[in-house]
This record gives sequence, structure tokens and C-alpha cells, in this order.
Amino acid sequence: MAEEKTKTELLREKLMNNPKDIKKLSAEEIKNADEFCEGYKAFLNASPVEREAVRYTKQLAEKAGFTGYDPDASYKPGDRVYYINRGKAIALAVIGKDGVKNGARLAIAHIDSPRIDLKPNPLYEANNLALFKTHYYGGLKKYQWTAIPLTLHGTVVKLDGTAVDIVWGDEENESCFCVTDLLPHLAQEQVTKPMAKAFTGEDLNVLVGSRPYEEAEDEKELVKLNVMSILNEKYGITEGDFLSAELCLVPSFKAKDVGFDRSMIGGYGHDDKVCAYPAVAAAFGVEVPEATCITYLTDKEEIGSDGNTGMQSDFLRYFIYDLARQDGVEGYHAMSKSTCLSADVNAAFDPTYASAFEAKNSCYINGGVVISKYTGHGGKYDTSDASAEYMGKIRSLLETNGIVWQIGELGRVDLGGGGTIAKYVANMNVDVVDLGVPVLSMHAPFEIVSKTDVYMAYRAFLEFFKA
Ligand code: MN
Ligand code: MN
Repeated sequence: MAEEKTKTELLREKLMNNPKDIKKLSAEEIKNADEFCEGYKAFLNASPVEREAVRYTKQLAEKAGFTGYDPDASYKPGDRVYYINRGKAIALAVIGKDGVKNGARLAIAHIDSPRIDLKPNPLYEANNLALFKTHYYGGLKKYQWTAIPLTLHGTVVKLDGTAVDIVWGDEENESCFCVTDLLPHLAQEQVTKPMAKAFTGEDLNVLVGSRPYEEAEDEKELVKLNVMSILNEKYGITEGDFLSAELCLVPSFKAKDVGFDRSMIGGYGHDDKVCAYPAVAAAFGVEVPEATCITYLTDKEEIGSDGNTGMQSDFLRYFIYDLARQDGVEGYHAMSKSTCLSADVNAAFDPTYASAFEAKNSCYINGGVVISKYTGHGGKYDTSDASAEYMGKIRSLLETNGIVWQIGELGRVDLGGGGTIAKYVANMNVDVVDLGVPVLSMHAPFEIVSKTDVYMAYRAFLEFFKA
């Protein structure tokens, strides 16, 4: 027989906040999470850079019945379309019964991740080694990118206008590349420097070859010539073609389960594919929604959302205006009535670096999907601070549907900070809040997430679309 609760216990239950966590999940829900994450790992492995994420998403979408969007066609409720921006961003829309008359439901994640980009003139030779000069992309702790295997991904456009896609280093038996580091024996000076000075952006030079061109009649930069000759043979490119290219180096390892219990996933680019995939899966999961649902995967978030493929571009706005035109309403009315989940990660509390966090307002691995009411930095600068009303709406949606969730601020006040696309969405007069997955070692080559948190993100986006 259950013991009767004391008056104090009953009062506590009634008044105090008692968030759910993984301990309340059934064995079946955990199994669902594990299964869902197999699809996520495949997505992550296929999508180190944004163009690849778009291609893979398009493939998945076509299998799920989505067709390319035609602004002049007319669509009916339940129709599924995708719309691609310059190969680097993709919108998936499921047309609702009301179309966008009462606004659209938006889930927006980004598919670019921190990495090392090649400079326009990358290839050089020094002391019989061939190297690439690079310019890092996004917020990196540079030392983390040394002495690990890297693979080359990207696109080169030749003088005749044809484009070549390059992926080198992903396969088990393929060669890879590497940024070298100084041996500890000779690092007495390096290790006493502050971290920002011990390893600078100009030190991120990537080793790409060491053998000279064999049939040479002279001695001039033969290692460099040999590298160029290999690239020319395989891709038909010349050194000048680097000037019209987007090439980057990303870690060459695949996603792996982490922990004896396999409860977590380690991999490159969780930020923000770990929100992109659940948002895509949610778009697939909705049939005939009330309002048109749009999952949008955007580019350039890691460098400020600028440019015509970033969230500050008008691409999504124009798409919604086109949908509104078909529904016979003004585009800006449709936009103003829309609501959005800005699907991005937050920093999970790390017990090893506890002082960087404020424990009461941090998110935790296995605490469920995390809502970040605001991001930004000291004094709430550079953020969209979600309204109490909108927070109330989302909170109630999650509670009603039994979704495990938590609140999260990005670290201790005045320690640093970060931003998301939420503020650019808010600028379009849309109600928006950040909702995503907690990540350990964010922006490192190998980031960690929890499987149940990934699954809760999927459930949150799905219920948001269905509501
Ligand atoms: Mn992010
Ligand atoms: Mn990021």
C-alpha cells in the first residue's frame, strides 16, 4: 500500500517546478529514440557541408513524396514541396488546409558547421612539403583541429563554367589531410602562451603532399606540381580554378555511439544537423496540417547568417509571399501571423567545466529538448528575447504532449555568449523561440549529443506542426 503523502509533499507537488527527465521515459520511448538516431547518424555522415546536406535532404524528401516547388503551380492541402536556394539552403513545405492565411508554422535549422575553408590561393610548397593556406569558418578553438585526420569537401567551378564536386578522404582506404602540431619536447614556449596566441589562424596550414613530380627536367616546386597533377588527373582542374571554388576541410571520422550504454552520439557537425534532421523528419511526419508547415535548412549561421543563402537573405520571405499570393492574402500578413521554432543547439552543462555555467539555468544531456528564451551576450544584447506569451504557448504544447524539455541559458552571465537565427526571424515580425538539442564540446571536431534529446526534438517539431 502506498504511503500517504504529507501536507508538505502535496504542497510541494502543487507549487514547485518539477521538470521531467529521461528517468520518466518508458523503455519503448528509449527504443524509439535509438531507432530514430540511426537515421540521424546517416544524415550526419552524408552532410558534412551544407551543399551535401541539401542534396541528401532532397533525396529523402523525394522519397517522402515531395516535389520541386513551382511558383506558378497551384497546390492543395497535403501537397509536399521542396524549394532549394543556390544548392545551399532548402525549404520543405507541407501545404495546410488554411495554407498561409493564418500564417505558416516554421522550423528553421542551419546546415553549415564550423570548419576550415581553403583560401582563394591555397596551394604552396615549403621545405619539400605541399600545404594549403586556410581561413577557418565559424568559431573554432584552433588547437582542436590540429593532428586529426581531415577530409576535403567542396565544389570547384572551372573557367568553362562547369562545376566539379570534390570529396577526398572519406573512405576507409582513401588518404586524408592534416594540420601539423609542434611536438611537446619543443613546445616549452608554445605551452606557456595564452591559448589564443599559442595557435593562430595562419597556423592552420594543411599538409597535402610530400613527393616531387617524377618526370621533371628542373627542380622548381615539384611537390606542389605533383599535387596539382594528381588533382588535374582526377578532377580536370588547374591551380587557377581554386579562385572559383568553395573547398573546406572537415574531420574525416564518422558518427559513433558514445558510452558503454551507447546513450550518446559523437560526431562532427551536430551543430546544427542535430536539429536539422529532426525538423526534416517532422515535415515528413505531418500529413494534412491546418497551417502550412515549413522546415527550412539555412546556411551561414556560423558566420552571422549573412549572404544570400543565410537567414538574413529574403529567400524564405519570398517563398512565403509566393504561397500567400496563391492563397489570396498579402505576403506580409501571412508572415506576421507565422510562428517559428528556431531549431538550434545549446551548450549542455559540463561537470568538468562547471564554472562556465549557471547550474540552475543550464541545459543537461538527457534533460530533453532545450528551449532558449534568449541567447546573445552580456545584458541580453544581440538576441530575440521570446515573449512570455509565446513561451507560454510552446511550454504548454510540450507539456500537453508529454515531451521531455528543459530551459537553457548559454553559460554564465558575462562569460561570453552566442547567437542563432532567431533574431532575424523575429525581424520579419514572427513569433520565435530557440528550441533544440543540448551539445557537449560544441564546435569541436567531435561533438556529443544524447539520443533521447534528439528524439525529443523530433517530437517537439512534429507536435508544433500538427498543433
Ligand atoms: Mn548552431
Ligand atoms: Mn554554432
